[in-house]
Amino acid sequence: MAVPTLADAGQVPVSALSGVGPKVAEKLAARGLATIGDLWLHLPRQYEDRTRVTPIRHLRGGVPAQVEGVVEAVEKGFRRRPMLRVALGDGSGGTLVLRFFHFRAAQVAQLAVGTRLCCFGTPRPGQQGLEIVHPSYRVLVDDTATVLDDRLDPVYPAIEGVGPQVLRRLVGQALDRLPADDGLELLPPDVLETLALPSLRDALLYVHRPPCDADLALLAAGRHPAQRRLVLEEMLAHHLSLRRQRIALQAHRAPALHPGPLAAALQAALPFALTGAQMRVHREVLRDVGRRKPMLRLVQGDVGSGKTVVAALAAAAAIDGGRQAALMAPTELLAEQHAHNLRAWFEPLGVRVAWLAGKVTGRNRAGVLDDIATGAAPLVVGTHALMQASVAFHDLGLAIIDEQHRFGVHQRLALRDKGAGGDRVPHQLVMTATPIPRTLAMSAYADLDVSAIDELPPGRTPVQTVVLSSERRGELVERIRLACTQGRQAYWVCTLIDDSDEVVAQAAQTTFEQLAAALPELRIGLVHGRLKPAEKQSAMQAFKAGEIDLLVATTVIEVGVDVPNASLMVIENAERLGLAQLHQLRGRVGRGSTASSCVLLYQSPLSRMARERLDTMRTTADGFVIAEKDLALRGPGELLGTRQTGLAEFRLADLVRDADLLPAVHRLGETLLERHPDLAERVVARWIGSASRYAAA
Ligand code: ADP
Ligand code: MG
Repeated sequence: MAVPTLADAGQVPVSALSGVGPKVAEKLAARGLATIGDLWLHLPRQYEDRTRVTPIRHLRGGVPAQVEGVVEAVEKGFRRRPMLRVALGDGSGGTLVLRFFHFRAAQVAQLAVGTRLCCFGTPRPGQQGLEIVHPSYRVLVDDTATVLDDRLDPVYPAIEGVGPQVLRRLVGQALDRLPADDGLELLPPDVLETLALPSLRDALLYVHRPPCDADLALLAAGRHPAQRRLVLEEMLAHHLSLRRQRIALQAHRAPALHPGPLAAALQAALPFALTGAQMRVHREVLRDVGRRKPMLRLVQGDVGSGKTVVAALAAAAAIDGGRQAALMAPTELLAEQHAHNLRAWFEPLGVRVAWLAGKVTGRNRAGVLDDIATGAAPLVVGTHALMQASVAFHDLGLAIIDEQHRFGVHQRLALRDKGAGGDRVPHQLVMTATPIPRTLAMSAYADLDVSAIDELPPGRTPVQTVVLSSERRGELVERIRLACTQGRQAYWVCTLIDDSDEVVAQAAQTTFEQLAAALPELRIGLVHGRLKPAEKQSAMQAFKAGEIDLLVATTVIEVGVDVPNASLMVIENAERLGLAQLHQLRGRVGRGSTASSCVLLYQSPLSRMARERLDTMRTTADGFVIAEKDLALRGPGELLGTRQTGLAEFRLADLVRDADLLPAVHRLGETLLERHPDLAERVVARWIGSASRYAAA
């Protein structure tokens, strides 16, 4: 159905607008604004109410206003930095100061005493009454009065090289070319009616040109029906795009894997019984890999929930089926630990486990690569090094990625492609201990299946968390002395804002020396990113073996490290870490049966955000609660990593604020894919572009 529609008006390049030459077009393109349709979707950040003029006497701090007046005095200063101050009077009995830090000579000439100005901005208390820094202003010639608008003026996100007035005019021109509803609308009318939302055309016009009685507070909160209408469509576009990616993956084939003697032997040899949650997830994984369609499953489970063994059992099924399995972890320490554990499980059963990291070099490396290429090593564990071109698998049937939030989509795909051939790809199992809030999981991961290990192995005791000012460090050292002389083991985690390895390593070194001096009776170890892998490993081994009482470490120990006897953790400068990281770190203790505690040391003064984070840590241990809080405090882009999901690329939608629209988005997605695949395609193209970043997935 290639009938051109009016919606194609949106595909017209911006250069069709008057005033857009190659230069402006380039500036716009740099911000992703290539077509007129892109301009429709470049939405105002806020609005200026120019429907009236406020007398200077009535101005209030913090309340944006339009003012008309005459320049009474001008002062130009260059003391510390250039500054221009202009006093404006309007006969109402007040004076307003306009202050500029950047200005051109022409501007100074223009703002002479006696000039009449109309300006707009938000007054703040200054040295001499209210002042506006960098107001937008217009010189009024002769005795023309300010022309009052009959609607609110949109303020667009700034674009370098395109002035605000020009931008406003261009968006205005683009809006004038908005087709009528039937040429623009992609959503079924009954859906919009049920949700009480306007058509796309009405929504766009409202958001760009709100009437003067519009509810600015509602608009500022992003909760206006016109905005929700746009958000709905944007979320739908992302959802459909992920669904499409999934459908594309499903077109591939994968080897059907079934557990055999090895899987049975491994399960029998485990020193513990699987928890109910592990069993459930294990079954879900087996069901997936037993099919000829590629699995793409995310296993989430809080720190310590026991994801590794589920992965190991899946790997055993792959090996039983005559294929290879690979496990990739984001840090060397974690990968080493996995290699160590998997060797302990698999080698007694006669399965060779290959280990590959950047540090494996020379003859050693050649041997490992050979084992991987010939299939002599059915199980391969490693870091990013596994993705290197020199690594070729004999027959990779299952790619496992641990702590996948540390990797980008492309890295996951790079490992997957190691097992690809013809239309065949390996199964993929990705694991994360960063619990994804349900709302986010539904939209961010519409392309994969999610399993949750939502139960901890038995015998764990909750970690008691204390928040302590760093001034009380002395007391804390005494407490550690006591705990360690009673046979407990402790971590002391050093963090810094500057997270260059070298600086942090230095700080850890210093802390190590101080603690060693204060606690001569304890055996103290040190682990940081600057140590050689062998040194790191031997310190970790010694700690695990109980030969070290207190381990001073940087956040390299954050992911996955498992020492059940460690029951005390101190985190220095805890106020500087995000919730996810704090939760990860704290997960290193509370793994054994002793009551554990975690002390969050902070430097005063605490920012409000930092206080909230520490409070959250103190009051809950539930990874999902923490993730929800993290999402609320930081926003989804940061939580998931923008590389990974592109979530930060939402123009309008905010997954926290707009979570209530998700069920409608999902229903709508089903309907469109079933009944109107052509419309689905166009929704994606409109919001994400045909060169979707998912295209390569
Ligand atoms: P994570 O989910 O954080 O990766 P791990 O897989 O490292 O957790 O498991 C944490 C610890 O719990 C390991 O020492 C592991 O051997 C142990 N473990 C896993 N499953 C069970 C279980 N069902 N019962 C007892 N201990 C278990
Ligand atoms: Mg783990």
